[in-house]
Formats: sequence, C-alpha cells, structure tokens
Amino acid sequence: MNKIKKVGVIGAGTMGAGIAGQVANAGVEVWLLDLPSEGESVNSFAERGLERLKDPDMPGIMSEEAEQLINLGNTRDHFNELTDCDWIAEAVVERLDIKQALYKKLNESCKDSTIITSNTSTIPISLLTEGMPQSFCERFAITHFFNPVRFMRLLELVRGKETKQEVMDTLDVFCETMLGKGVVPCSDTPGFLANRVGVFAIQCALHKAFDYKLSPTEADAFFGRPLGLPKTGVFGLYDLIGIDLMADVAKSLENILPENDAFHKFASPIGFVSNMIANGQTGNKNDQGFYKQVGNDKKVIDLSSGNYVNHERLKTPLLDEAEKRGVAAIISDKSPYGLFIWDVLSETLCYAASLVPEVTDDLTQIDDAMKLGYNWVKGPFELIDEIGIEYFVSRLKNSGKNVPDFLLNSSNNKFYNNSNSTLSTLSASGELNPIIRPKGVLRFSEARQTLEPINSNESASWFEYEGAAIVEFHSKANALDSESLDMISDAVTTSEKKGLRGVIVHNDFQHFSCGVSLWSVRNCFEKNDFDGLDAFLSYFQNTMLQMRDSKLPVIAAPVGMSIGGGFEVVLHADHVVSHANSVMGLVESFVGVVPAGGGCKEMLYRWTEKLNDSEKGAWKSFMNIGLGRKANSPQEADALTMRRSGDVFQMNRDRILNVALSSLDETKKADQRSPLALSGVKHFQQMLEWLEVNHKKGMLTPHDVTVGTEIGRIMSGGDCSAGAVFSEQEILDAERSSFVTLAQTQETQARIVSMLDNGITLRN
Ligand code: NAD
Repeated sequence: MNKIKKVGVIGAGTMGAGIAGQVANAGVEVWLLDLPSEGESVNSFAERGLERLKDPDMPGIMSEEAEQLINLGNTRDHFNELTDCDWIAEAVVERLDIKQALYKKLNESCKDSTIITSNTSTIPISLLTEGMPQSFCERFAITHFFNPVRFMRLLELVRGKETKQEVMDTLDVFCETMLGKGVVPCSDTPGFLANRVGVFAIQCALHKAFDYKLSPTEADAFFGRPLGLPKTGVFGLYDLIGIDLMADVAKSLENILPENDAFHKFASPIGFVSNMIANGQTGNKNDQGFYKQVGNDKKVIDLSSGNYVNHERLKTPLLDEAEKRGVAAIISDKSPYGLFIWDVLSETLCYAASLVPEVTDDLTQIDDAMKLGYNWVKGPFELIDEIGIEYFVSRLKNSGKNVPDFLLNSSNNKFYNNSNSTLSTLSASGELNPIIRPKGVLRFSEARQTLEPINSNESASWFEYEGAAIVEFHSKANALDSESLDMISDAVTTSEKKGLRGVIVHNDFQHFSCGVSLWSVRNCFEKNDFDGLDAFLSYFQNTMLQMRDSKLPVIAAPVGMSIGGGFEVVLHADHVVSHANSVMGLVESFVGVVPAGGGCKEMLYRWTEKLNDSEKGAWKSFMNIGLGRKANSPQEADALTMRRSGDVFQMNRDRILNVALSSLDETKKADQRSPLALSGVKHFQQMLEWLEVNHKKGMLTPHDVTVGTEIGRIMSGGDCSAGAVFSEQEILDAERSSFVTLAQTQETQARIVSMLDNGITLRN
C-alpha cells in the first residue's frame, strides 16, 4: 500500500524541481513551492523550475500527464497546500537558518503524520532539528537526491536518532519502487557516502594530474573509461559540474570533515584553477572551462600557458592494453600515466576502505553509492577485487603507504565471494554476509556472478537462469557484431531444444546497446568488402526473424540507450519490459546509413497498422527515421509507435529483470508479418520533393538528401505503382541494399570515421 499520495516540495531550484518532476513521473500529485517573486508572476521561481524540467536534452519530466500533476506556487500564498501532504521534501538553499525557520512553520501547520525530509548535502540532522519537538524529529529524515534527479539512480537515506522505523520504511519503499531510486541507507556523517568518496576521488585526481604535469586530455583518457568511470574523466567532470561549484563543494567538505581526514591532502585550491574561476572559465555553463567547443573543434586548455589548443583523442598502446586487460594493465605500467592512475586509485580505494566500519559496516553501500551516484561501473571494493587485494596491499606496504585495517584484515580474501550460488561480501569482522536486495530487485550484474555462461564470446554471453535464457551483450558500448548475433541465435536454438521457458535479452550495463558496431562496418568498407557487409546484414535480419519466429517467448529488457541496431533487437522481441529512462530510436541516418536489421521494415508495419493508411504510414516512418527521432520516455515511445500496447516499464531499472522473468509464461508470440501494400512511386516523388525543399532551406545537407532518398525508397517501395504488395523479405532486402549502397559513398564513410575517431556527428 502506497502511503504517499500527495507530496510538497519546497525550493524550486535544481534539486527541488527535479524531485517534484520525479514524483509527478511516478503519477503522484505534487506541490512545488518557492519564494514569492516581485515580478510579473508571483510564482515565477517555481515556473522557472518547471521550465528547466522540460529541457529537451535532459527532460526531467516524462510526459504531459506528469506535468499536469505538478502544481506551482509560493510559500506565502500556498503554504496551506502543504498541510495535508504525506511527504514534504525541503530543497531550499543550503542555509541552516532558512531550513530551521521552514521546519518551525511546517511543524505548526502540517498534519501529524506528514513526513518531512531535507535534501541537504552537508548539514547534520542533529543541527537541522535542533530545538524541534520529539514528535517532529520522529518523522524527520534526510533524503539526499543527486542531480539530475530523474536520471541519477542514487538516493542516500539518512536517519536521525529519533526517526521512527515506520517513517524510514515508508520513504524507502516510495523512493525505491515509485521514484525508481537505489536507496542506500547512510549514517549522519559528513558528505554521507557518495560525495565523501566521489569528491575525494576527483579532487585527488585533479591534484595528481597537476603533480604529474599531465594535460586534461591525458588525465581524462585514463581517469575515465579505462577504469570504468564516466568518460568525462576528471577535468571534463569539473567542466560539467561547474569549476566554481566544485571549488565550493570541496571547501564545504573541508569544513565539515574531521581534522585527521585524508581529504585535507587534496582540499586546497590549485592556483591555476582559481585563476580560471576568476576569469569566468567555469566550465560548460560558461562555454569554457578545461575544454571549450569552437564550432566543430574541441579545444583543451594548456595547463602551462593557459591558452586553448586543439584537443585530439590520446592514442597510446597503454590504452589498447587497458581495453584488453583492464585496470591491472594501467597500474602495473611505470609510465607517468600508470603512476598517476596508481596514485589516484590507491589513495581513493584506501580512503573508501578507511570508512569501514566507522561510517558503514556494509561495503556494498559504498560500492552502490559510487555506482548509482557517480556512475562508476565498479565500486571501490569491486575495483580492489579486480586488482587483487594481495597485490594491492603489498604494493601499498612497499611504497610505505598506510594500509587501512579493513584492507589489512581482508588481504587473504576477496570482498565479493560467490559460494553456493549466493553472492556475499566480507564484513569488517571477517564474516561473509549474503547481499540481500529488496523483494523484486534483481541485478543481473550480481546474479551472473553466481552463474557459468552456457555459451560466451567476446561480445556477448548467454546464461540459464530461473529456467530461462538470458542473453547479455558485453562489447564496447554493447555494439552489435556477428558475435553478438551468434549468442542470440544460439540462445534461441538451444533454449528450444532444452525446453526452456523463453529468452530474455538484457544487461545491467549503462546501455542496452548503442547499435551495430561501426568498427565492423568500417572494416568492410576499408577492405572494399561489400559482399561481406551484405552477408553481415543478412545475418542480422535473419537472427531478428529467428527470435520473433521461435516458438519460445522472447522478451527485451532494455536500460539506458537502445538505439540503432540495439533498438532493432527490441523491435523484434515479443514483449518489452523497459526502464522508464530507457532511450529508444533508430538514429542510423546520423552516420549516413539506414536501419537494416529490420528497423525500417518494422517501423513501416507499425505506422501503417496504427494509421491504417499506407501513405501516412510510409510518411511517418520516412520522417522519424530520416530525422533519427529518439524517445526519452515510454510515453514518447508510445507516440512514436516504438512500444506495443502490452509493453510495460518500471521506474526502477533494478526491477525490470524480475518483471521480465515473471512475464515469460504469459508472453504471447508476436505475429509474423503478412505482405504489405506500399504507397508507390508518386509518394516517393513527394518525399524527394520534401527533401529538396528542405535542402534549399538549409535544413538538410546534400548527404542528408542522399540518405533520405534511400529511406523514402524503402518506405514507399520506390519505383512501383501505388498498392504494389511487398513481402516482409522484400522490404528487408530493400533495407540491406540501401545500407550497402550508402556505405559505398565517401560521405557515409566520412561520417562513420568521424564518429569513431572523434565522437562527432559530421554534417556533410
Ligand atoms: P538552488 O540554489 O538551485 O535552489 C534553491 C531554491 O530555494 C531557490 O529557487 C530559492 O529561491 C529557494 N529558496 C530559498 N529560500 C527559500 C525559502 N525560504 N522558501 C522557499 N524557497 C526558498 O539549490 P539546489 O542546488 O537545488 O540545492 C537545494 C538543496 O539540495 C541544498 O540543500 C543543497 O545542498 C542540496 N543538494 C544539491 C545538489 C546539487 O547538485 N545541486 C545535490 C544534492 C543536494
């Protein structure tokens, strides 16, 4: 039973607006109040908060229905709306006096059962509730969300000495199931867990990069993807957060952490960085920080001169080696890169270990905080396991560094242990404690550690779990190549033979799949092997049909991005259980090709069915695929026919696998496709005219017109009469033929090379 039916949020800044947006996304009514404003509209602060939630690049609200659930107001005229709220989240500026004054007012006006929480990052509960009656303290807690609230998975839930268990349980269940957060209980200690370790890590990396005289390009190339950290690296992350804001965050942590805390080694401001702040070079919000975009060119600051120079991706054999062998390859290297990473990692991992057991006695809480709050692929203790505790501790000792007790006492073991199909972690007293997640929460990244794959290759694996096959992609960005397809095909064939319940395509990485491997495509055009390319596409299409036509149900359970070829896999599943923030779309046109794994065909069928009109269906598919439209929420996906009526989603991505497993037995097979009457040559001509007009207006580049022509040809049937009937296979053949034709053009090849080498979408 959900006890929270009406929510109040006070403070409509970055965090308050984000929290209100996510509450509305969960289908719950919310009042978002800020100070009354003097100008035209008394509610303008709250209105601006709502506007920011509609930013198309990072939409904090999922749908118009959600928007309707947000009531805007101000604390002078609408305070009485809070009286019957079940939960009030305070997210005003980080000032104790302002927060305390609000609590007094809330205590006087709200019903006795209203739960009140603060989003504070730094103020302890004891100070927040100082002087408040027991009855208030019993229903008060800290709910520390991360920015942007819709997308960051972590919620740190902090209990005060007096907070009732019932209050904690209500918040835990609501935030986990309805708001979709990974709730990590934290004690009321400075910085809680994620910022304590995260800010330490990035301040340490910044200081060490200056010590080793590395450029931002060099430091970020290593302190990023190769360690399983976000690709922004350290300097890019400063730009993203705001270099001035980061300086304030470091300062406030410095003020609240005890004197003997290791953070103080890296807390002091760096002169060069302070000068940048003074010059207004504060990061992305000011269009210049350590990096700067000038037209199509990315520039990076030269740390010796302060001038911006061209940024080029770092290429060194050590990065290739790291891709193959992981962190171990980097830290065993004696170059400045290797030593830099060893220094940063050893400091950070020791710092994390030093928090056990004083700050938490459960290491998964620290790992979860870093994975969910800072988007690390592995938490500190998982990283130590990867490096090997024994090696880690002996190298620390050899270099004369202090080894935290928890590491010393654990050095004969691993932090994560898999025995008898149970994943356990080591406690400070040396016991193994099974990881227990809330009912319905199932992370495949954990479950798979207790399983042996039935079949596996470089790009994908499949496992048998609860009587079903689970196919997991694990290539870079989960790009699909023939090896990924081999695993889907084998999982389907073998599961049929074994009589399994069905097949689920799922993984617990950042993205389900970012599409067909452009490296494979590049490989073909560089070798002039267009027959090979055609054969690969044919294999892709056949595997999609094999999935759909198998007698077993196939469910796709995507998280993060499922775009391009990744979305074609989703399109051919019988049923989809997605995460609410899953992004779907066919974006092939950006790299100068067309969807050719059945994506064009499937969208054409779906639009034609929905509109019951071959011309309108062809036009919609032509436009959406041509413009590479993406859906950022299930509601947007519905509007773009990217989901079918029975498809479902979950707010918490940790719940989708469990839902997929329990839906298998009821999943009905998708119908095979009957031949389709296409709109024909006249309609094709209209599409060409549209391309020409928009080219003349400067909206489309010459190569956009070439790609659009191919999409139009597929959707209309090209030079055929209106109503000509095409089989599914004929439409698939047309997709393949267009893809191969486009891949032979210099412009498509240039787009693919630009994307692979520089990550830039080339508009040629
Ligand atoms: P912000 O400055 O963006 O927004 C604060 C809002 O509070 C402003 O709109 C302001 O007008 C309003 N406000 C001030 N006094 C008020 C009052 N008496 N009544 C009603 N509204 C009032 O700040 P933010 O970044 O959203 O931070 C809010 C809280 O969340 C702070 O406690 C902060 O420490 C914490 N926090 C911030 C982040 C982050 O990344 N920004 C992350 C986690 C926690």
